[in-house]
Amino acid sequence: MDYQTVIEKIYGKLQGLWGQGKVADYIPALAKVNPRQFGISLATLDGQYYRAGDAETCFSIQSISKVFSLAMVTRHIGDEIWQSVGREPSGNPFNSLVQLEYEHGKPRNPFINAGALVVTDRLISLYPHPKDAILEFVRGLCNNDDIYYDKEIARSERANADRNMALAYLMKSFGNIRNDVDTLIDVYCHQCAISMSCVDLSRAFLFLCNRGLNPFSGEQVLTGSQAKRLGALMLTCGFYDESGDFAFRAGVPGKSGVGGGIAAYIPGNLSITVWSPELNRHGNSLIGMEALECFTTDIGNSIF
Ligand code: GLU
Repeated sequence: MDYQTVIEKIYGKLQGLWGQGKVADYIPALAKVNPRQFGISLATLDGQYYRAGDAETCFSIQSISKVFSLAMVTRHIGDEIWQSVGREPSGNPFNSLVQLEYEHGKPRNPFINAGALVVTDRLISLYPHPKDAILEFVRGLCNNDDIYYDKEIARSERANADRNMALAYLMKSFGNIRNDVDTLIDVYCHQCAISMSCVDLSRAFLFLCNRGLNPFSGEQVLTGSQAKRLGALMLTCGFYDESGDFAFRAGVPGKSGVGGGIAAYIPGNLSITVWSPELNRHGNSLIGMEALECFTTDIGNSIF
């Protein structure tokens, strides 16, 4: 398969969509990003790498970080996490409070903000220095020690975190948050502000593609069964209230973030990350969604 030609063709074709989406502006520092950027990076399990466009430009990974924090918690406490977080699509926007009240403070899944906050809360209980531990984990996954937090984005998000604070306090009132809410929001805002490129992310998701085994270090990060479950959650819940549509269009597990990145993979085969900051009305990268649909269609491969 000539992946380089495939991704270059997609890169050329989709630039025409610039201007149709809107950069996230509810976090002021994110609104400053140049919207007209588009990168694609592909890594195969047999060690081939391909890239197009702005694949090496770092951006704020935002909710893509929820996959990393869930992996960190799962490897320590396993199924225990499912007593506190559900595994069903929410059908609601990523930061919705409504369902939480009805469902007694147990978030629908770990990829909406409420669920990710519970996961980060458990992570704080497990690691004495959670912010250092998150960076170390992500660096190990992509085999790059130059991964850092974007302090400006973290500060900006922290200063505008009223809704996430509300989610955390509501869940605390139901006994589902164990740590101090300020500490929790600080760690959460930092994990969302990790700065990575498409190249870094496509490498970082190879362990999921490889049944939980990090191909760079040889470490079994998750069991095969845990990796399968994480992938299933990405497929069913990775795109908020557009998760069904992404599965329908691209047919692969993926996770988006409001920074405009989407990490996706085909198990046993390849990992692909696309990034373009303009979002559609559900908060997912408009060009990114399109790019992944084109990719699996053009190569004639998906999980189905
Ligand atoms: N940091 C964002 C928030 O909590 C994450 C949302 C996203 O990327 O979808 O609002």
